[in-house]
Amino acid sequence: MTSGEFVIEAQGLTKTYRNGPRKVQALRDVDFTARRGEFIVVLGPSGSGKSTFLNILGGIDHATSGSIHFEGQDITAFGDADLTRYRRDHVGFVFQFYNLVPSLTALENVALVTEIAANPMRPEEALDIVGLSARLNHFPAQLSGGEQQRVAIARAIAKHPQLLFCDEPTGALDSATGVLVLEALAEANRSTGATTLIITHNATIQQIGDRTLRFADGRIVEEVSNPTRKRPDQMSW
Ligand code: ADP
Repeated sequence: MTSGEFVIEAQGLTKTYRNGPRKVQALRDVDFTARRGEFIVVLGPSGSGKSTFLNILGGIDHATSGSIHFEGQDITAFGDADLTRYRRDHVGFVFQFYNLVPSLTALENVALVTEIAANPMRPEEALDIVGLSARLNHFPAQLSGGEQQRVAIARAIAKHPQLLFCDEPTGALDSATGVLVLEALAEANRSTGATTLIITHNATIQQIGDRTLRFADGRIVEEVSNPTRKRPDQMSW
């Protein structure tokens, strides 16, 4: 059971993929808790299970065994309808590629989500949080890569999610643009209070988190708290 302190709590998570006769053990007995509003950086080599972990916590993949409690409910026991509601109302995702609808403006891309969410903010407010108030009526092709990613962040937070999961959000961006995207994520975390997990290959980014998890071979092999969390523009490279 989750207590009030933890928004999400996973116990004994395992995931085995089967490719024909071959089995891949993507997660091995992972335990994890996160507090409300925490900003967590997830590091580890390619293939160590980071994306699998995030996808299972976010209800877009199923664990082979183990439990995940979100606000006291075991989402691993959910049927499809409850899992859809969990993803739709409580989890914001940001991926490496922005997946915006090219024929819709920034505002309309965000409104796609606010129209179906249970507790949305106004699309203008979400775009203001990521610093794009001056770009509401621009189409994706009229925005830089970093601006498109900030629209994707606005879309993810516009539902007021308790959880904001980001898989390599700066992976396709140069470092100066990446800092702007991280600033948008830090502000999204601060102003919405969403517990934020960011997968990255860039160890520098751990300076802006409250805690770093390091994955290797399907396990969390190291957890380090960072009491002196920095702002993205203060990171030393
Ligand atoms: P990371 O995000 O750390 O790069 P992943 O979670 O993507 O790692 O992958 C962990 C392991 O699981 C890898 O060996 C990967 O090849 C395997 N894997 C991931 N997704 C699938 C899938 N859908 N089918 C089969 N194997 C998968």
